[in-house]
Amino acid sequence: MSRPIEALVNAAALAHNYQLIQQRALGARVFAVVKANGYGHGLQRVIAALPAADGFAILELDAAIAMRASGLQQTILLLEGVFCPDELLDCAQHNLSIAVHSPEHIQWLEQAQLVRPLHVFLKLNTGMNRLGFAAESAAQWVERLSRCANVVDVTLMTHFATADEPAVGINSQWARFCAAAQGLNLPISTANSAAIFAYPETNGDWVRPGIALYGSSPFADRTAESLGLHPVMTLRSEVIAIQELQAGDAVGYGATFLAPHPMRVGVVACGYADGYPRHAPTGTPVVVDGQRSRLVGRVSMDMLCIDLTDCPAARLGSQVELWGSQLSIDDVAKAAGTISYELMCALATRVPVQLV
Ligand SMILES: *Cc1c(COP(=O)(O)O)cnc(C)c1O
Repeated sequence: MSRPIEALVNAAALAHNYQLIQQRALGARVFAVVKANGYGHGLQRVIAALPAADGFAILELDAAIAMRASGLQQTILLLEGVFCPDELLDCAQHNLSIAVHSPEHIQWLEQAQLVRPLHVFLKLNTGMNRLGFAAESAAQWVERLSRCANVVDVTLMTHFATADEPAVGINSQWARFCAAAQGLNLPISTANSAAIFAYPETNGDWVRPGIALYGSSPFADRTAESLGLHPVMTLRSEVIAIQELQAGDAVGYGATFLAPHPMRVGVVACGYADGYPRHAPTGTPVVVDGQRSRLVGRVSMDMLCIDLTDCPAARLGSQVELWGSQLSIDDVAKAAGTISYELMCALATRVPVQLV
């Protein structure tokens, strides 16, 4: 008997979410964003669950090359482009499309000897001030790329900083992008998950959903369920020990939790070395044999403790869901002061994953 922890990845839920996004973005093609090992779900698993995806967006070159080697035919976009001129040769050889976001990228393209020209996504900075050319200079860079023999075509791209925050919205970024794109008559790609749902006018030619594909809400104030998304990852374990506490007894490292009354506490085989957030406080929700309960005390490396006082039927071997089909990962992330993205990406390699 091995340690009773596992993650489940639900292929049907992934396919459902992809289709839902396709419906929301009719007319646009959909890049399934699979960076960071498919947001922690396993790149190969995600790709296998989405055979009909229009394209995949990623930023690890090795993984992109492996995708081609496995026979994948769709568009593959490198979201951060290349990191040195030599990588352009790999992109040409494996037919990878690239984001181009700096003058050096353009210079490298102009000087390279490539076996085939590349599809370029010209990244415009419209206010996030992370990657990209000032949107106002778009025409000049498009002109330069149009004279470059190593470029087949150009799509204009930008990324929104606040599409998930209705109070701020995207107006200023979108206006800046539209002004830059006007007259250039090029395809565009701007929408992340939040924008696909909140600002469908930005869907353009290619949308780039990540988090929604994995069944989590991009918004703090709207549940995944209300958006029609199905959770893809479930993290579950079991109760491996039970402690009967007296009032005043402590739980875990630092003795940060003191039982206010006699309590039954379950010890669960899941800790921060499995990817569960160490900073999740007492009260973070868990589900025990289908019943909602809560974390108590500090999360350790390999274990965490939960309140079983109101779960009299719970015993050794009771199933504990840390997040997933019965407990939204968004609720856990919120309780832990983070976002679902971080929890998914942190799933540790020691946790066995089962495709269901
Ligand atoms: C990660 C990423 C996305 C996906 O964002 P979500 O919020 O997960 O939908 C889209 N575009 C770019 C450039 C990204 O880096």
